[in-house]
Amino acid sequence: MDNWILAVITFFVAMDFAIDTYVNFLNHRSSKKPVAAEIAELYDPSEQKRSVAYSAANYQVSLVSSSLSFLLMILALTFNWFARLDGYLRERFTNEIVISLLFIGVLVLISNVISLPFSIYSTFKVEAEFGFNKSTPLTFVTDLVKGLVLSIVIGGGLLAIVLWIYQELNSTFWIWAWLLFAGFSLFVFMFATKIFLPLFNKLTPIEDGELKSEISRYCDSQGYSLGKLFVMDGSKRSTKANAFFSGLGQSKTIVLFDTLIEKLTTREVVAVLAHEIGHYKRKHTLWMFLLSNLQSFILFALLGWLLSYSALSEALGASVGSFHLSALAFFLLFSPVSTLIGLVNNALSRRNEYDADDFARETYDGPVIASALKKISTDSLANLSPHPLYVAVNYTHPPMLERLRNLAK
Ligand SMILES: [Zn+2]
Repeated sequence: MDNWILAVITFFVAMDFAIDTYVNFLNHRSSKKPVAAEIAELYDPSEQKRSVAYSAANYQVSLVSSSLSFLLMILALTFNWFARLDGYLRERFTNEIVISLLFIGVLVLISNVISLPFSIYSTFKVEAEFGFNKSTPLTFVTDLVKGLVLSIVIGGGLLAIVLWIYQELNSTFWIWAWLLFAGFSLFVFMFATKIFLPLFNKLTPIEDGELKSEISRYCDSQGYSLGKLFVMDGSKRSTKANAFFSGLGQSKTIVLFDTLIEKLTTREVVAVLAHEIGHYKRKHTLWMFLLSNLQSFILFALLGWLLSYSALSEALGASVGSFHLSALAFFLLFSPVSTLIGLVNNALSRRNEYDADDFARETYDGPVIASALKKISTDSLANLSPHPLYVAVNYTHPPMLERLRNLAK
């Protein structure tokens, strides 16, 4: 009975790796293709070369990193490492909640330790070599420590409550666990830029001047309060330009990176702002938030139903059923569905980007948003000819060429 479950899990893990590797390879090959005629003049030959080299460097890092993770996962499944860790903890602790917390903590720690060298290499070698990195080793380490403390306190705290609910309620646990999860995501959704972002970055109101008056004029025309607009010191970590919208109702916030303001003209910055206000006006963030809660509801319902089968824990080699082993087996079994959900979410997100671009064109200026897009993409050496499959799997924003075509309609 338990062997077929393990076989299915192993098959899914292998399939996931194979598909991912193949799609990455297709994209790598595609990045070397000549760029479409409409945007061919955006890169001169030496920039085109640099863009290809940048894509290739990122491709190599992700190939080595994903191969290592895959290898470790196959070893862990073959040699029952998960069950052994569970057994090791059971010899030393008796409280089920403590065992589950430690088990999950050890796995998270191991995965962080594995990804750390890749993150260091990508920041201080790849990003630095192409002139993007601005992060100092001190900033890097501080970010790491802050992130770790936050995930231990918040992640560990939430997990402990879920485990306690599970112990007390068993079969109906998933409803309460989902409510807790949904409540917390609502909190993060509303207050992340106010509470968590300032731990990592400085947010300041926009400075007086030409840009501010142009922005004021546009915000007034759209009924958007300037008090909900901030400039962030993105230049602390990277030269890449960005902007985003977050929050809901009164907690709405638009953040413009200082690098964006530095690189774009006044009108281009306002066009980017118009795009972000479009996300708010057309309620994209609200719908994506509701959708993700619907998805997590289904996920929790399935988890609640399947956790009662100790066969899931046994499939990973354990002799006693436990929350953490069954949940781990569940998520591995669920991975093809997660992939499909990811495809749908990315497609919806890309549709919203077109919609926000349309809003910026209708309320501000189409050609100006197009020139802002061109600058942001070429400045970050974006791959101008990504493979369609790679786009479907990984892109939350449409490739630049498609956005330009949409804007020209
Ligand atoms: Zn957008």
